[in-house]
Amino acid sequence: MHNDRHGQSRSRLQDYEPIVGKSCIQQLRMLAEALSGKVIQIINSTFIGGGVAEILEHMVPLFNQLGVDARWDIIKGSNEFFEVTKKFHNALHGKQDTISSADFDLYLEVTRENLEEMRFFADIFFIHDPQPAALIAKKREIGKKWVWRCHIDVSNPDEQVWGFLRQFIVQYDAAIFSAPNFAQSLPIRQFMVTPSIDPLSDKNKDIDRNLIESVLTKYGLTSDKPMVVQISRFDRLKDPLGVIEAFEMVRKSIDCQLVLAGGTATDDPESEAVLDEVRKRAEGNPDIHVLLVPPESDLEINALQRAATVVVQKSLKEGFGLTISEALWKGKPVVASAVGGIPLQIRNKLTGLLCYTVEGAAYAIRQLLTNPEYAAWLGRNGREHVRQNFLITSQLRNYLLVFLALDRSEDVIYL
Ligand code: UDP
Repeated sequence: MHNDRHGQSRSRLQDYEPIVGKSCIQQLRMLAEALSGKVIQIINSTFIGGGVAEILEHMVPLFNQLGVDARWDIIKGSNEFFEVTKKFHNALHGKQDTISSADFDLYLEVTRENLEEMRFFADIFFIHDPQPAALIAKKREIGKKWVWRCHIDVSNPDEQVWGFLRQFIVQYDAAIFSAPNFAQSLPIRQFMVTPSIDPLSDKNKDIDRNLIESVLTKYGLTSDKPMVVQISRFDRLKDPLGVIEAFEMVRKSIDCQLVLAGGTATDDPESEAVLDEVRKRAEGNPDIHVLLVPPESDLEINALQRAATVVVQKSLKEGFGLTISEALWKGKPVVASAVGGIPLQIRNKLTGLLCYTVEGAAYAIRQLLTNPEYAAWLGRNGREHVRQNFLITSQLRNYLLVFLALDRSEDVIYL
């Protein structure tokens, strides 16, 4: 399936200049020029929901503005297929699960169907995450360059699933991971590229106070109580129950409210069950608001993040956690678990507070709610940290450099 929905760019490249500087945009143009004539085919498993789709939606139009012919496709899969790949996802994050040979067979069968149905037309194939990873079989027939982009924290993967996927990964020309500690023992080149946020998207751009107030009203929230917010798909790895527990500890001494807002992703079949669990757990506590936010509610998410007094991301595992950069960019103090790619964003006590336990999260939230000046200082530092490292222009540059490196054996690129 090819994505036309995001074919039109929303922001122009020059609009990023005031944020990242002229030289950054010039550098992007130079790198893109060196790639001219190459077609990039990006393949993942969903256009909507989750961090991967979030990034691609904004990145593909920018590639195109730079004159890089990048096109975005998704694989097709049944609900059963996505149940299997969700199990893979959890197992790669280190969760023990039983994965049967029927599960592996279904994965291979759906891969075969996609190999038959999809059109492969690029010079560089840019394949995201495990769901489409086995499409690499096509390389034997058509050659070209293939890059696997892993968004998962694979620092401690389940051996069975990693062993299965590894047979495909080793056929790629290169793999990209989000953090240094995710690197694997592989016979192919590995690059580290952190994900990023788009400062001009509806999710992150500046918005009017009136809009924030109208979103609060819509969801029955009030701005006269401090608000602790976690935005996440309803996924156990985001530990929504742990967030509630921490909030209840804080609530004993501070009058505040909790907002757990999230939606579902088409490639995540578990979310409804998790949402039910969260709703049950929150029942009877009028200070806990569990919001099911429809897809494409970027302005609403933006408003909720801006309305937050403290943003929490208490994930048990996290590839990167875009929600953290989103919050930091809005100058918010963040409490987040020290897992996966999170410590790249949260330098403890400098750009936010890291936590390791429910009690630790409660302690940190309390500290920020009672020290607004310290909270504001962390938020300011956090915004600068994101400006320097996690904006979409940095990621574009890094991807362009990886694509250019594919044709060269040396790691340094001379333009
Ligand atoms: N998000 C959203 N609506 C929701 C929940 C999440 O738009 O209901 C967005 C969130 O703002 C972020 C992305 O989805 O941009 C989630 O990315 P992250 O890396 O935090 O987690 P993932 O879902 O990829 O595990």
